[in-house]
Amino acid sequence: MPAASAASAASGPPLPLDAHPLAPHALSCASVLYTDLDGTLLGPGACLLADARGAPWLGTASAVVDLNRAGLTGVICSGRNRLQLAEVSRLLGWDSFIAEIGCVIVPGRGKDPVFYTGEWPEDATLPGETPYEAMIRAGALDVLAREFPGIIEEHSPYHLNREVTHVLRGNVPLAEAQAALDTLELAIRIADNGIIHPPRHGLVGVTEVHAYHLIPDGVTKGGAIREDLARRGLTRKDALAMGDSAIDVEMAESVALAVVVANALEDEWVLAAASGRENVASTRAHRGEGWTELARAWLAARAERAGSSSGAPA
Ligand SMILES: [Mg+2]
Repeated sequence: MPAASAASAASGPPLPLDAHPLAPHALSCASVLYTDLDGTLLGPGACLLADARGAPWLGTASAVVDLNRAGLTGVICSGRNRLQLAEVSRLLGWDSFIAEIGCVIVPGRGKDPVFYTGEWPEDATLPGETPYEAMIRAGALDVLAREFPGIIEEHSPYHLNREVTHVLRGNVPLAEAQAALDTLELAIRIADNGIIHPPRHGLVGVTEVHAYHLIPDGVTKGGAIREDLARRGLTRKDALAMGDSAIDVEMAESVALAVVVANALEDEWVLAAASGRENVASTRAHRGEGWTELARAWLAARAERAGSSSGAPA
């Protein structure tokens, strides 16, 4: 493709997958997809068996079956915790997963998790203390509640059973929230994980609710993907990523092509994160329908490559 096309991919919103200059090659080479769940693979209400508007639909499940049948690997890379992802992965027929925004890597069913705490020193946690508990001890939740009363709270019930990160909801100025956390002894980053629609919450005057994660400084989904690819003996050219939030866009640094579902384009943080990255595309469809759009394009590119390498007619 001419240089102008590559340049247009780096400025403005991400180009559609079916018009992205890097997509044909990336899709034909990749064998692993790192995918977010909520707002990406799943429909409204975190339902797999629903279209983007929540109507009953088998399309996404069917696409998962076809990827599995083709021997392609799906790896959930989500903010959800290890217990949740173990169950969801089993339902999809997948084996390994990355939980808690890259902090908890489970390399296979029944395998011990690997915890990543980024730039934290070894003595950041006390004996027997989880990184999750260390953040509470450091005062992370207290300082946010004090600085932003009524507009940030724990994302109940998903704040339970976590080992490294905290998940919150609300709508706070991110730079100011980060500045508040920077006053603590422990290096903690607050990350925006996109717009959510909780059925109930205790926030005051918040109309657009975002999910936030408190993460040890230096940990990203992209860093976890690099670790996981190395374990598999693969490189970024073997991998795709898909998501719907700004922290999902960061996966682009570790894969050949990162794709956001169309609903992600409503989030200004996603657009800001994608700006300047050439290897980010978007689907034309929303949520699971967009996920299916990527899966179908991936399968077609792999089939075309297999056909051409075997000498079969196009
Ligand atoms: Mg998401």
